[in-house]
Amino acid sequence: MKQTEVQLLLSSQLKDYISAHGLNHTNERYEILKAALTLDEESTPFSARTLYKRYTELGGVATRGCIYDTLKILEQAGIVMRVPALVGTGIGYLFGYHFSNSVAVLCLYCGKIQLHKRARFTRALLAAKPPQTDIAGATVFIYGTCKHCGRKENKIKKPNSRA
Ligand SMILES: [Zn+2]
Repeated sequence: MKQTEVQLLLSSQLKDYISAHGLNHTNERYEILKAALTLDEESTPFSARTLYKRYTELGGVATRGCIYDTLKILEQAGIVMRVPALVGTGIGYLFGYHFSNSVAVLCLYCGKIQLHKRARFTRALLAAKPPQTDIAGATVFIYGTCKHCGRKENKIKKPNSRA
């Protein structure tokens, strides 16, 4: 999907969410989404601070508080998701559309996320949702060590095991 198509799609998703929940359609919310999309690098998370910086670089005048509020709305609308734990870097945000029907494997050493498409598995999870709950999105995160860091870790361990 082209970036402009993504922007149109996600803007309309945001519009629907805002309308459905009786919130105000402020220009800032759409501008913040647009700024966030310039930081979209599939599985490399961006922070609220980075987003604020980019948004002001693009001429935005909304407050930091507005950035946090909008991120919350974007999360509730299923547009972005918070990465539960990125070691030492705080909270990160990712665009959910990359992750549909995926299992994301997060390396606790380098912080890289690898996506594996597992449609049947994520469909089964959605079917298991508790009654009377609305699901904005479903992503499975698995934490561990990636292949690359696993090899590095072994190299580090070997000399120690002789001691
Ligand atoms: Zn790694």
